[in-house]
Amino acid sequence: MTPLPEADLVIYNANLVLFDSPPVRRPSQVRVLEGGEVAARGGAIVAVGQRGSVRGAYRAARELDASGRLVTPGLVDMHTHMIFAGSRDDELEARLEGASYLDILRRGGGIYRTVRATRAASDGELVGLLEARLAEALSLGTTTVEVKTGYALDYGGELRLLRLIAEAARRSRVTVVPTLLAHVPPEEARGGEARREYVRGFAEELVPAAAGLARFVDVFCDEGAFTPEEAKVILGAARRVGLGARAHADQLARIGCAQAAAEAGAASVDHLEVSDESSVRALASAGSFAGLLPASLLATMGSSRPPVGLLRSYGVPMALGTDFSANSQMPSMQTAIDLAIYLYGLTPAEALAAATVNAAMSLGLADRGSIAPGAAADLVVWDLERVSQVGYEWGRDRVLAVVKGGEVVA
Ligand code: FE
Repeated sequence: MTPLPEADLVIYNANLVLFDSPPVRRPSQVRVLEGGEVAARGGAIVAVGQRGSVRGAYRAARELDASGRLVTPGLVDMHTHMIFAGSRDDELEARLEGASYLDILRRGGGIYRTVRATRAASDGELVGLLEARLAEALSLGTTTVEVKTGYALDYGGELRLLRLIAEAARRSRVTVVPTLLAHVPPEEARGGEARREYVRGFAEELVPAAAGLARFVDVFCDEGAFTPEEAKVILGAARRVGLGARAHADQLARIGCAQAAAEAGAASVDHLEVSDESSVRALASAGSFAGLLPASLLATMGSSRPPVGLLRSYGVPMALGTDFSANSQMPSMQTAIDLAIYLYGLTPAEALAAATVNAAMSLGLADRGSIAPGAAADLVVWDLERVSQVGYEWGRDRVLAVVKGGEVVA
């Protein structure tokens, strides 16, 4: 008799959430395999099947009885600004009193305050801060996190942040996807020739220098940040050196940013709070993902919401992120899911897909985000039994166990 193959972990008696031919564009692509079983070896899923088909077929170092609970892929946070120093908690009351972004900037607050704190922080401090934020996200079920630079602004400082992201990633269990962000022009280059020179240098010097460190280049394209023309220059440079493109677009004003990002072949175009049908059409024809960041709608006290109905009807796949940033520190993809349901009207099935397989695919990661043989064994066991309970039972930490690379880590 041949011995059974070995597995590091077998989870059984699980209601497995599976996705048919991802990316998910319709809730009907999401289904649940009741009493499902999954085996992991060497960090990857090696078998998925019905009750009795996997558990008996492997000699498992560890078995986990999910007792009929929901098991999904590990959550993927596709949009964060997690590396920065300092706190801006004292700006919250001013914002509640109606102070605008520009008012706060004039008082010496806002993004340039975070830039000063980040430039002044030591390497060790920044790595420690990011490590702690990644650990917190992992404990909440997030196994992959995209992290953007953008709080140094000068070229050398941005490259330093990319190196520190890599250092924190080496120390963390979380898979990190590093992105170079063109956030805003620095204080000394807000206009004129200095600004033109900053954009040119960003595209021609910084982007090529970041090629070995970042996987994507993102441009914050909006009123008060970069223009669609500047975004095209920077994202075009990214594509030329083999980096993926992403963008912040249509958050505050509709000035053609979503179209510019789509034309540059952006993998994801994020925010879209003020998008109309022409933006959605541009995303659909470029094959871009729509990155939805409902926590940032609250943090900016905005009222306009992304056109989710149009995204659905054009078949643009939606992905979710926390937008964890120095403006608002919200680490939980569980909360992002809740807000996507209640603020944006995603169904629980759509929100789960947006927080897992669609988010992973928007980051160019075909090897995770779904429960399928060959995928990374990143899983979450929820304290829930049905997909319909996601969002219905909200506001608390519903994650019972987190599996990263086949190992129970939380
Ligand atoms: Fe952002």
